[in-house]
Amino acid sequence: MRYVAGNCLWTAQTTIPKQYSYLTTDLQTEVVIVGGGLAGAITAYQFAKAGIQTVLVERTIIGYLSTRASTSILQYEIDTNMVQLQSMYGIDAAVRSFQLCFDAVSDLEKVIQTLDDDCEFSRSPCLYYSPKKNDVRWLEREFNLRRKHGFPVEWIQSEQDNERFSFPIAGGILSTDGAGTVNPYRLTHALLREAEKAGAKIYENTDIDKIYDEPSNGQTKVTTQHGFHITAKKIVICTGYEAKNLIRGQRLGSLARTFNIVTKPYPEVPGWYDRCIIRDTDEPYTYVRSTNDQRIIIGGEDVNAGGVSSKISNLDDEDPLVEQQYNRLLAKLQELFPQLQVQPSDIEFQYHALFNNTKDGLPFIGQVDYYPNCYFNLGYGSNGILSVLTGSKLLLDLYQGKKSPDLDLFHFQR
Ligand SMILES: Cc1cc2nc3c(=O)[nH]c(=O)nc-3n(C[C@H](O)[C@H](O)[C@H](O)COP(=O)(O)OP(=O)(O)OC[C@H]3O[C@@H](n4cnc5c(N)ncnc54)[C@H](O)[C@@H]3O)c2cc1C
Repeated sequence: MRYVAGNCLWTAQTTIPKQYSYLTTDLQTEVVIVGGGLAGAITAYQFAKAGIQTVLVERTIIGYLSTRASTSILQYEIDTNMVQLQSMYGIDAAVRSFQLCFDAVSDLEKVIQTLDDDCEFSRSPCLYYSPKKNDVRWLEREFNLRRKHGFPVEWIQSEQDNERFSFPIAGGILSTDGAGTVNPYRLTHALLREAEKAGAKIYENTDIDKIYDEPSNGQTKVTTQHGFHITAKKIVICTGYEAKNLIRGQRLGSLARTFNIVTKPYPEVPGWYDRCIIRDTDEPYTYVRSTNDQRIIIGGEDVNAGGVSSKISNLDDEDPLVEQQYNRLLAKLQELFPQLQVQPSDIEFQYHALFNNTKDGLPFIGQVDYYPNCYFNLGYGSNGILSVLTGSKLLLDLYQGKKSPDLDLFHFQR
């Protein structure tokens, strides 16, 4: 399956900071992490910093799968509104899910302060809005529920706000805290550099093709494609969407292809308050963020990907659908910020990637009973980065014998 296509901003702007060697021997360790995207990197960082012997193995190149295509919007708000989440799991679980994401933004900021790179982390307000009058009632309910539970929200209508926003807003929730942006590729490498300093061993071009999880005969180990074994107390699976193949009898959500275009830098954008993160209520929705070098990323226009053999899941750059979705994003950008008069030649990067939605917007973190010594840290859904940070903390606690009740929010049987 082809996960990413096109010219991704993050890897186009950064040459590979470090190449790790491949594994050529058997190893014994306390924890082995499979997968070297952001989930694996943050998990390796947490475990190594806690003084636990850690090995990370990556099939190909560090950070070169979903991580490099990530829009990397960090938001406390989840794709499933708090009102909907309440109707699915009750108010406590809904508020806790939002709160964990809210806290994870500050946690990530603190983690980045320990790294040798600022990873372009930046805090930003975020706007969730609709231009349609019909949406105002339910958006207001969502706003009231969030406000009642202490989230820092402001109600927005563009009649009062045409100074701040250049596009029509029938109703919107402006969150003044709990959001930001980051460069996911630089973050992945910076975390691994720090993990390595703390003693972690990292291997690239090392494909794990077998997992043995039979503790009765002391055989918790993974085996590489070249037959080397890594024996460990615990295995942490951070293989992103590939992990779906390990989970039996359950669909972990559905795959869509999502599209991103990135402009040249625009130091001034009239009608874009604080260069905030923007998300509309359309289905599929459109999302917008700024970069540190003042580009605009606009994404969305998702199409359902279907199964492994479907044409869309393996979309190639020549497919006319790709150009069509990029053009739609450009038209949306022109509508949002008409004064910029963005032209096709102002678009400097465009790419599309598979993305896994879950039915409740929440990730999968924890264990399954048929792999008793495996932990899973799967940041499915659009809060993936914050989710895998939360996951890495919950799994470290679990390893150290402290099982958090928060794991119940993210378990596989839901
Ligand atoms: C298009 C897109 C947009 C996104 N936007 C956002 C966003 O705005 N905000 C947000 O918070 N999140 C977003 N996410 C999600 C977020 O980027 C991810 O959750 C995060 O990057 C973590 O990815 P990962 O490490 O789980 O997966 P990946 O980056 O895919 O890493 C998994 C790694 O495992 C390796 N691997 C697989 N199988 C094996 C094996 N057998 N042996 C060894 N290695 C193996 C792969 O090679 C790969 O490098 C987005 C994701 C996508 C795809």
